[in-house]
Formats: sequence, structure tokens, C-alpha cells
Amino acid sequence: MKKHNFYAGPCILSEYTIKNTADAVINFADMGLSILEISHRSKQFQAVVDEAVALVKELLEVPEGYSVLFLGGGASLQFAMAPMNFLNKKAAYLDTGVWANKAIKEAKLFGEVDVVASSKDKNYNYIPKDFESKVPADVDYFHYTSNNTIYGTEIRKDPDVPVRMICDMSSDIFSRPVDVAKYDLIYAGAQKNLAPSGVTICIVKDDALGHVDRVIPTMLKYKTHVDKGSMFNTPPVLPIYAALQTLKYYKSLGGLKEIEKMDIAKAEKLYDAIDNSKMFVATIPNKEDRSIMNVCFVMKPEYAELEKTFFDFATERGMVGIKGHRDVGGFRASLYNALPMESVEALVACMKEFEEIYAK
Ligand SMILES: *Cc1c(COP(=O)(O)O)cnc(C)c1O
Repeated sequence: MKKHNFYAGPCILSEYTIKNTADAVINFADMGLSILEISHRSKQFQAVVDEAVALVKELLEVPEGYSVLFLGGGASLQFAMAPMNFLNKKAAYLDTGVWANKAIKEAKLFGEVDVVASSKDKNYNYIPKDFESKVPADVDYFHYTSNNTIYGTEIRKDPDVPVRMICDMSSDIFSRPVDVAKYDLIYAGAQKNLAPSGVTICIVKDDALGHVDRVIPTMLKYKTHVDKGSMFNTPPVLPIYAALQTLKYYKSLGGLKEIEKMDIAKAEKLYDAIDNSKMFVATIPNKEDRSIMNVCFVMKPEYAELEKTFFDFATERGMVGIKGHRDVGGFRASLYNALPMESVEALVACMKEFEEIYAK
């Protein structure tokens, strides 16, 4: 049976990415060797890194003066690396959930943190209004999480604040054009819209580096990796190769504006089905706060006892990974770039079929 992969991360990758990566595991660049066993300093792999950097710059229209890095350690390492390299005295953070809190916790190790707004009071089911106007002008930077993977909220517009920004775009990078010039740093663990886990993409403004006084270990300095083109030490070779395949695929789709249209169409289809349903309700009430990447919904209270029944029903029909995060419960369907509309249609059909049988 066809599987519809709604996992939140690691998650669906394009067939193009998986097929080409599998081929390279057998025979990379006609070297007669697997990509798993070649030197990262070979000219064939250098070409992979160069092309991946160029495609990130092209797709996101990265301006001059920025470096694109492929690092290890996940987005979680960036929670610490960002303040280590950018926080002198004080930084402003937006609290929109678990990931934002992990970033805040690490930043506090290095300076003062001003949490300008939080949606904790309602289990993070909204984006705080007017957070932009609360960002003070005297902080070193403003940090936010563009897509809150666990709750299904998203900030889809680059904020207007009086300072430079740092953003965790782990779960929605490449789902829309971004005004990179507003940022000192954008980072994203690759395992949601780009590649298997193991690589983190960082887009860093070169002249924003080197302005903190503290001692920074070599590996944790962005400058180290900028100077060596992500080759200071052995980079995650296979995930970078897979990332390149995804980037090529995104280009072939027509770039981020086209991808954004497809992503919006998929999300609208599912939210419409939920909003018009007798049994299900979206956990994010405010439409403009809803993520187009992670769609969270629960059973209405009068049908609460059918949660497990629906889960099993959907599983039998090929739906995979729709269980909600434990902090939210219910269901979460992640609609990353690689997920086809066909899978959204299958989930919607499954929900309708279930309603016909079980709705009172
Ligand atoms: C998944 C995720 C992370 C964690 O990434 P790791 O690579 O596992 O460290 C951080 N932030 C967001 C928004 C995420 O979705």
C-alpha cells in the first residue's frame, strides 16, 4: 500500500533526493567508489559543496557578504553557538515554544536575555501580537523561531525590528522567499526540508562576526568555518550530498515562490477540511498564525474517545507519522515541501470517510 509520510522530522524527502543519494552510495561521481568511503577533500566532493552553497545562495537570493555553512551538531548546537558569537550584553528573544525556550536557555549562559513576548499562557497556540514593537533598540540581536514545529504556528513574514535578527528556520526554510539582508544569522537543522539528519545549514553575515570579546573554542566560531568553507574538519558528507539533490530539485520546481504556492495550497486543503469537519478542530484558532508546514488538530470534545480509533483507521489507510507531539496531543500532519498534494488528498479523504462512519 502507498504510504503517506507526515512525520515531523526526520521526514519525507523528495524521490529525486532519495534516488540520487542511493545511487551515490553505490557509485559516487563515477569514481567507482561509494560516497561513504571517499575523502571529503576529493575534488568531486568539493564540487558538491560548492554547488550546494551556490544553490542555497541562488534559491534564497542571499546578498553579497554572507557565507553559507554546512555544520554538524544540529540546530541545538546553534542555540549556544549563536549567542557565543553574537551576544555581548543583551539579546531579545521571542518565546513561541519548546525550541525557542531551548535557545533562550543557552543564550542566558552568555548574557542578559529579554524575552519580549510569549504565548506560553495558551500552550503556544498563537503568535504574540505586536512582538515587533517590543524589541528594544539597545540589544545585540533579536532571535525568533519562524516555524514552531510542535504546535503548528508560524511567522511567515520577516519581522520589522530595530536590530539585526537571528532566526531558527529549521522547519520552514525553503518554503518561501526570505529577506536575508535583515539577518545576521539564519540556521536550520536539515532534517525537515532539506536532507537526512546530520547537517545544519547556517547563513551568516561575514562582517557581523568578531564583535564579541569572549574566548570562543575554534570549532564553535563561525569564522573558523567561514574561512575554511565548511571544511575545517570532516563535514557530514552524505547529508550534504543529499542536501544538494534537494536543492537541485527545488530549483527544478521553479524556486521558492513556486514552492510557497504549492505549500499554501496543500495547507489550505487540509485546514479547510478540518474547519469544515464535525469531528476535528484545529489547535491554532487564529488563521494567520497557522503553520503551512505542520498542521495540528484534535478531536472535538464530544468525539474525544475516538482519537485512538481514528489513528488506527488512518494507519490502515497508509497514513504515517500523524500522531501529535506529546505536548499538544491529537494529530499533527507535517506537509513539508516534498510531500505531494496527493498525500494531503488521501488524508482528507480518510478523515471524511471516518466522519461518515462515526459522526453522530
Ligand atoms: C527539529 C527542530 C530543532 C532541533 O533540531 P536538531 O537538529 O535536532 O537539534 C530546532 N528547532 C526547530 C524549530 C525544529 O523544528
